[in-house]
Amino acid sequence: MLNLLKEKIADFTENSQENFLDDLDMMQIYDKPLISIAAASDLLWEKLKEPQVMGPQHLSPEEWLAGAKSVISYFLPFTEDIRTSNRSKGLPSKEWLFGRYEGEMFNTSLRSFIIGEIESSGARALAPFFDKRFEIANHVSNWSERHAAFIAGLGTFSLNDSLITTSGAAGRFGSVIVDVDFETTPRIYNEIDEYCTKCGECMDRCPPRAITENGKDNNACSKFLDKMLELNKPRYACGKCQTGAPCEHKNPKTI
Ligand code: SF4
Ligand code: SF4
Repeated sequence: MLNLLKEKIADFTENSQENFLDDLDMMQIYDKPLISIAAASDLLWEKLKEPQVMGPQHLSPEEWLAGAKSVISYFLPFTEDIRTSNRSKGLPSKEWLFGRYEGEMFNTSLRSFIIGEIESSGARALAPFFDKRFEIANHVSNWSERHAAFIAGLGTFSLNDSLITTSGAAGRFGSVIVDVDFETTPRIYNEIDEYCTKCGECMDRCPPRAITENGKDNNACSKFLDKMLELNKPRYACGKCQTGAPCEHKNPKTI
């Protein structure tokens, strides 16, 4: 069932009109997604509740969906057209702004598609992003797509807090919690930031200089994103730290 679901997700991504930008000559937003499975019983979900990680407000899969068995986590890598457009320094490219904004609409549809596929097999599924309990307070949410992806084996964190996958960091994440006992994906890393080389390229590319050797200043990044919203309403994005860097579209530690 899992392989068939993965094929259907890939087909949906390849063929959905929402994955193409009307205003930009039908430019494709995302390439084929990476899909991984985390066990709902993984002990790392409890670890996320620690204050220095996400905090006690972060809900576990079981708290979102009673009887949860697995979490389907996926990464949607931006296409080369979207990525290369944002490699210059300074303000975000038009293509990146559209990819980020319209891309999230596609991501929403993909979550619904996965829920529909699971439910049509008689099982239950829930995307925290859709749930009325989902909230973000002071830039911290009670469900982190990136942390779910880390637990599911999709990749590791980086100096700028992006998650670096085998297809890089330039893209978007999503997840659906299900009561199906899928085979889990092994985590092939030991360290939380194993794929980041600490090369510092993202520090140099960040317009408000929000990234230092010590990590990312979330407030400085958010303030810059607010400015981008003022300039580009309803779109807002930056992504300079995810493009033009060695981790843009691959794990930089691989040759
Ligand atoms: S640019 Fe270098 S330091 Fe920054 S996240 Fe990527 S690999 Fe890490
Ligand atoms: S998104 Fe932009 S402002 Fe925020 S850390 Fe990355 S480069 Fe800096």
